Amino acid sequence: MRVAVFPGSFDPITNGHCDIIARALPLFDKIIIAIGRNSDKRYMFSLEERKEFIRSTYANEPKIEVMDYEGMTVDFCRSVGATFMLRGLRNPADFEFEKAIAQTNRRLAPEVETVFLLTSSGYSFISSSIVREILSYKGDVSELTPRAVHSYIEKKNNK
Ligand code: ADP
Repeated sequence: MRVAVFPGSFDPITNGHCDIIARALPLFDKIIIAIGRNSDKRYMFSLEERKEFIRSTYANEPKIEVMDYEGMTVDFCRSVGATFMLRGLRNPADFEFEKAIAQTNRRLAPEVETVFLLTSSGYSFISSSIVREILSYKGDVSELTPRAVHSYIEKKNNK
């Protein structure tokens, strides 16, 4: 069984993440979307909110599971029997950053192969931080996030 972990903050999940996930689905038997808990980071959405956005987006996709973890991603991969780690690449800055991480991870866990998918054109500008920035000005993110995210925000704002 080919199990991949897609690690990230997903604060919140965006159409950029969804593009990578959709294109990775045919490659793996199971994709665990894994939210890393980092006590030094301040998030816009709680862990439960971030999980729920992903769960409802993929409610009809049996190959996808949502989990959270603390500590090193390679240790989490081992604990769930994943031999692939999935990452998305948007630009040269992502490449440099991801290269250092992937090479370090290979030293720590040679059995976990990092697989990179290049962002589809049209999605490369999307990031969770841009979504958060727009939300901080109460702007419209319906073109940038899956429905679970923007409908939750609309409901919250109309209360
Ligand atoms: P992290 O804090 O690990 O960067 P993110 O949730 O921001 O967590 O990103 C998780 C993964 O999704 C990373 O590999 C990132 O490069 C990828 N990603 C995010 N946005 C996009 C996008 N628009 N296109 C392709 N990959 C993306």
